[in-house]
Amino acid sequence: MTRSDGVRVPLGGTIGILGGGQLGRMSAMAAARLGFRTHVFAPEADSPGMQVATSHTVAAYDDVAALHRFADAVDIVTFEFENVPAATLEALEGRATCRPGIRALSICQDRLAEKRFLEEAGVRVAPWREVRTESDLHAALAEIGLPAVLKTTRMGYDGRGQAVIREPGDAAPAFARLAPKPLILEAFVPFAAEISAIAARGVTGEVAVYDAIENRHRHHILDLSFAPARLSAEASALARDNAARVAEALDLVGVVALEMFLLPDGSVLGNEIAPRPHNSGHWTMDACLCGQFEQHVRAVAGLPLGNPARHADAVMRNLVGPEGLEAWPGLVAQRGVVAHWYGKEEARTGRKLGHANRLLPLGSLRELSDTEALGGL
Ligand code: AMP
Repeated sequence: MTRSDGVRVPLGGTIGILGGGQLGRMSAMAAARLGFRTHVFAPEADSPGMQVATSHTVAAYDDVAALHRFADAVDIVTFEFENVPAATLEALEGRATCRPGIRALSICQDRLAEKRFLEEAGVRVAPWREVRTESDLHAALAEIGLPAVLKTTRMGYDGRGQAVIREPGDAAPAFARLAPKPLILEAFVPFAAEISAIAARGVTGEVAVYDAIENRHRHHILDLSFAPARLSAEASALARDNAARVAEALDLVGVVALEMFLLPDGSVLGNEIAPRPHNSGHWTMDACLCGQFEQHVRAVAGLPLGNPARHADAVMRNLVGPEGLEAWPGLVAQRGVVAHWYGKEEARTGRKLGHANRLLPLGSLRELSDTEALGGL
């Protein structure tokens, strides 16, 4: 039994959310619908999450006194990002039940721990080596071969902290750019598609898994998700099974996303875990009976999980600054599109401002070209 087992948030009780971004905002909105209050803790005033939460604290993540007051004011604490500083977790330890727990967060903060964890959970991953020195890198390249990807083990997201090594001469500059941070070298995966699957696990250990999704990126940021991914039945089952394994092996209470590579031969490799609602799951809000945010709230509050079944096919487009702001009036006017805006003040380049879900009849996506599936998105 983990320490968090058993706690239930009563109707009208308060879910504390660490982080003020759009994931916390959409979790808070789902929580309100189920009769819970939310308290968002983040350093930025007027954050997207604070705009919709019942209450909030504006304080730094290492403000121990503020964290103690926050922990005392809520029934449970959840996180909308996994790179929660160790000092924050220490301040919460023993004062609040955290879902996900500290172990799940720490695995997902470190690519080496994450790779080892995936292998132990029975999820195949690309060959990888730990790299601390330049000679480690040369030894790893000799074993793994070219091309390969060198990554920082911590704080990398949306393609940051990465370098592709295509030829031997790329190795030294890549190392110089990313060192002295701890690094990992991975084989470059010649993927046919990038896919993901989202699983939820409740306090009793029940697991609910959404259909696998195909994801397309632009400038390293998620651009489109196609739900369901147009995969063979075997690959789709494997992707979903991998996500469920991860939720179980993490002993998670909450939602977890597993990003994967689909290989041309139909096999699947795990890449990255996010122990929280995920951008590639935004389509579930409108195309499933219970979307990922409601599912996350249900799990952390100790409610039974909702039904993840899809009642429509969907394409999700991320609205990224500055173009997303220009696209908004057209999207919000479209029938068949459900548009979501996050309330961010500045439409800076690369910033996720909102998303739009185009709903399609169940089972129709497989027959459509990408252009047809996108329609006016
Ligand atoms: P990550 O931060 O690990 O999610 O990587 C960001 C993006 O870089 C992924 O979505 C892929 O498009 C690409 N990428 C990461 N690792 C690899 C790899 N080992 N092989 C090929 N592409 C990769």
